[in-house]
Amino acid sequence: MIIKHENLRTLAREILSAAGSIGDEPQLVSDNLVDANLAGHDSHGIGMLPRYVAAVHTGELTPNQHAKVIVDHGMLVTIDGGAGYGQVIGTESMDIAIERTQKYGVCVMTIQRSFHLGRIGAWGERCATAGLLSMHHVNVVGHPGLVAPYRGSDARFATNPYCCTLPATDTTPSIVLDMATSVIAQGKVRVARNKGELLPDGVLLDGQGQPTNDPQTMFDSPPGAIQTVGTYKGYGLALINELLAGVFSGGGTCRPENDHANDTILNNMFSVIIDPKRLVDEEFIQSETGATLTHVQSSPPLAKEEPVLVPGDPERMSNTLRRQSGIPVDEESWRLFAECALSVGVPQERITKLASV
Ligand code: NAD
Repeated sequence: MIIKHENLRTLAREILSAAGSIGDEPQLVSDNLVDANLAGHDSHGIGMLPRYVAAVHTGELTPNQHAKVIVDHGMLVTIDGGAGYGQVIGTESMDIAIERTQKYGVCVMTIQRSFHLGRIGAWGERCATAGLLSMHHVNVVGHPGLVAPYRGSDARFATNPYCCTLPATDTTPSIVLDMATSVIAQGKVRVARNKGELLPDGVLLDGQGQPTNDPQTMFDSPPGAIQTVGTYKGYGLALINELLAGVFSGGGTCRPENDHANDTILNNMFSVIIDPKRLVDEEFIQSETGATLTHVQSSPPLAKEEPVLVPGDPERMSNTLRRQSGIPVDEESWRLFAECALSVGVPQERITKLASV
């Protein structure tokens, strides 16, 4: 199915309102999810909504929470997410961090126990739009491990993403490096399983620690594990994210004594936001960034039709394409999404209408 992004936004908003969200919350959550679909990250798009609504029903996700500052030293801030929608907690927290960075030149902000913060690039982009540099380290508590440490054979931690974003200059786009530290994000394993596709070699281990291509292994018992990107280097970054986000937010880590029995997704995040103009003058930033990207991107491509890109380009290209031609939604994801809409009382005719316009 191909569905217009506006219609997905409308339907997602109606589901969220019916599931108890008020005020800006339905809009913030639906926009964040559909924007992830537009960016090409279906793993973090509307396919997450059935899981969110299920978590509202079990009490793991609390609608209508707001970012609560629990530690405040001016340029050092900790925020409690109260297991609220990450799209609300993330937006409000970033706005606090942006304001502090504008005041002090830098802000270190940690968030503890927000429900799923979604696509972390969205938070980097929010800082970049304000003209700020940012780095974000994320871990997950609340569900069993998904990713095996280098040289390990079973899952110990989650896909712990890292994001670093540089604002656009007059001649260059923003750079948005936003990546899971696992070879692929767990959501992409779910999407592959929903589509009945196999994954490439080097991505998964089965429940016995043996290599497999079958995404179903992550849903079996005992479950398999995803491997870290780039062997020990990716493992190192995953561990850094685990500790920076889990320890220094106060939200806790993947160790088993913390609560991981459920299938919930609480994110902790450790962010550093900097006003680049307080480090070097703007003229230098403009000229040096522009010349560097020109130099790097002028490397002759190995394949003619695949030029050198900068991080953030694939998402921008997908956004342009999908805004025009609609968002492809696979059958299983749509079935779960429609089922979720029905479960909260959105009428079938409304779902059919929005899917067919
Ligand atoms: P990915 O592998 O698709 O992309 C990773 C990065 O590589 C992006 O910055 C992208 O712009 C860049 N990139 C891709 N192709 C490129 C190319 N040819 N040249 C230069 N750069 C290129 O992303 P992923 O690792 O699958 O992560 C997907 C999303 O999942 C991210 O938005 C991440 O934040 C999110 N995530 C969230 C959580 C959470 O707990 N909230 C956990 C894991 C992942």
